[in-house]
Amino acid sequence: MTSRYVDLLDSIRAEFPRFAIVPKRDDGLQRAIAAALLVVTLGGQRHYLTRYHTVLFGKLYVPDAWERMDDDERYILLRHERVHLRQRRHMGDLWMAFVYLLPIFPLFLAWGRARIEWEAYVETIRATAEVHGLASARALEDDIVRRYVGPDYGWMWPFPGAIRRWFAEAIADLEAEGRT
Ligand SMILES: [Zn+2]
Repeated sequence: MTSRYVDLLDSIRAEFPRFAIVPKRDDGLQRAIAAALLVVTLGGQRHYLTRYHTVLFGKLYVPDAWERMDDDERYILLRHERVHLRQRRHMGDLWMAFVYLLPIFPLFLAWGRARIEWEAYVETIRATAEVHGLASARALEDDIVRRYVGPDYGWMWPFPGAIRRWFAEAIADLEAEGRT
């Protein structure tokens, strides 16, 4: 029996032949990034190696939590990360790094990163609705808002009202498509 996750992974590998899934803990650069993030967020981002998934140079670096995720969770996550793979193809590594990483200094008001991430979170919302239904997608709101306004991505866009408006638009689109 094949799963949505396996099918999606196959299609990502067809679209991005060099795609690979690499445990963060096995990678020296990822451990260095984790240490740097801990410092620049004053300890606010302490879960980089254990909880956060990161696309870099066309590969997906996975945290310890990956091992415990089921296929549905991995499917939803890969839908988000595929957006970043496509953004990278579209923008190029350098430009994406510029938009994505530079605004960490200073940490606040990182508009470029906020929009890049939002494009991917729309996929998280849509994939969640597909797998678990619209009510589960709606339930993501507080968690996503928290990620934007908190230290997870370096206080990426600390305006909860704006995030909630973007979220409402994504849900309204799903409703308009007849998703229940
Ligand atoms: Zn993302």
